[in-house]
Amino acid sequence: MKKCLFVLLFVFTSVSAQLTENVFIIVIDGPRYSETYGDSNHTYIPNLWLALRPQGILYTNFYNNGTTKTNSGHSSILSGTWQSIKNDGSEKPSMPTLFECYRKQVDTSASSCFVVLGKKKLDVLAYSTHPDYGYQYAASVKYSEKEEDDCLTLENIKDVMQTYRPKLIIANFAGVDIAAHDEDFESYTNKLKIADSLMWVLWNLIQNDSIYQNKTTLFITNDHGRHLDRIKTGFHDHGDDCEGCRHISLLILGPDTPAGVIDSTFYEQIDIAPTVAKLLKFEMPYSKGKIIESAFIKEKILEE
Ligand SMILES: [Zn+2]
Ligand SMILES: [Zn+2]
Repeated sequence: MKKCLFVLLFVFTSVSAQLTENVFIIVIDGPRYSETYGDSNHTYIPNLWLALRPQGILYTNFYNNGTTKTNSGHSSILSGTWQSIKNDGSEKPSMPTLFECYRKQVDTSASSCFVVLGKKKLDVLAYSTHPDYGYQYAASVKYSEKEEDDCLTLENIKDVMQTYRPKLIIANFAGVDIAAHDEDFESYTNKLKIADSLMWVLWNLIQNDSIYQNKTTLFITNDHGRHLDRIKTGFHDHGDDCEGCRHISLLILGPDTPAGVIDSTFYEQIDIAPTVAKLLKFEMPYSKGKIIESAFIKEKILEE
């Protein structure tokens, strides 16, 4: 009697558990791709390009395909759904934010989640109007006394980190957008240089803090871009569906993320929320985005 024996042996190495315990989402408000990673000299973002990018993964084909305004963009980031809300701070997101899902499922303390400002009107990000979530799962809010001052925003992050030790932060660096609306290109690019240098300061702040070092994943993105030069008012404004407004970027650095990778796969702003949720091990049941799998170091699988 013939016997055929097929032996398939898969040896799995012990899969290392995720190391991320904290996530910081940093939103630089309104730089255009042509002044950030789309500039081959990276004139205005030397720190992001030379110091931070090699430590993480950069997404170059990353888009806001919803409403390209501040409050909508930030709400889409936090909810993983395309939010089109009023831009004056009078309307909250309609779908649950990362904060609400995190607090409902993982950590109920009010200081575990923070909105750090930036523009005051973004305090609407603290919680949504969704009936199953809302105020009882809200993030705390740290206001700025001078919303266009990005150095002060960094001080606010530092203060919140040291005082409350939150696990999940979104921060708005408003200087770039405010300067561009003032129609001064030099001031706009100077503010971008400042924001760029503050990202390096922030990463060092994280990596020199015993609670946060090697346990924190940093997302650096933007809410929207600005009009291309020959569209409407050019760099002064934003809010439509031109390439300049839609094309944003995302850089992710952290202990679970590959280093030195540039990924040109198409991803969207709503993909941030489910990716953050996976890092912090909870669910975003209403999100329409997809997890950005390439942001996770692949599990090693040996096959014999
Ligand atoms: Zn604006
Ligand atoms: Zn536009």
